[in-house]
Amino acid sequence: MSGRAVVVSGPSGVGKSTVCERLLADDDFELSVSATTRPKRGNEQDGVEYHFLSREAFDRKIADGAFLEWAEVYGGNRYGTLRAEVEGILAQGKHVLLNVDVQGAEQLRERGLALTTIFLLPPEPWEETLRARLGRRGDTTGEVLERRLQRAREELAEAEFYDHRVVNDDLERAVAAIRAILEG
Ligand code: 5GP
Repeated sequence: MSGRAVVVSGPSGVGKSTVCERLLADDDFELSVSATTRPKRGNEQDGVEYHFLSREAFDRKIADGAFLEWAEVYGGNRYGTLRAEVEGILAQGKHVLLNVDVQGAEQLRERGLALTTIFLLPPEPWEETLRARLGRRGDTTGEVLERRLQRAREELAEAEFYDHRVVNDDLERAVAAIRAILEG
């Protein structure tokens, strides 16, 4: 069995975390836990969601060549994909799921990682689907909803840069489509 490095992206509200959780529930998929300098949120645990590092420790890893890619995302926090993490999972013959954006994916490709990039799309009509899904999270209304929709429109414009596009109309169908891509 040979694992692939997989990037799954999609606009806010498309159901990306549910699809990723579903993939990770299977034994042949594992998450590459990134390193970050951002503070822990809520119940996050070191080594589970991220490896939480100080800025000094993060920069030492940059100097050591420990990252396949890294980026300063927003708020000045740094995030990076650890080479050891990815190689360790691939060595077990598993697929490694990477939580990076399109720029991160490009950097990984440039570093020679054989990568399959998948963009999740909401069912058409996109705007109405996302509006309904974002609105259903009770906390999202008015101005916040409009901002998220605007961001989603910008994110959707990135779909063309991915290897594959999968419509998330139904969880099981989307997961099956991703599996078919990886086996194809
Ligand atoms: P959050 O702080 O909400 O967990 O993540 C913020 C952003 O950082 C997300 O867009 C996520 O994709 C990005 N991110 C997480 N890990 C990495 C990584 O290893 N490399 C890069 N380039 N971005 C990452």
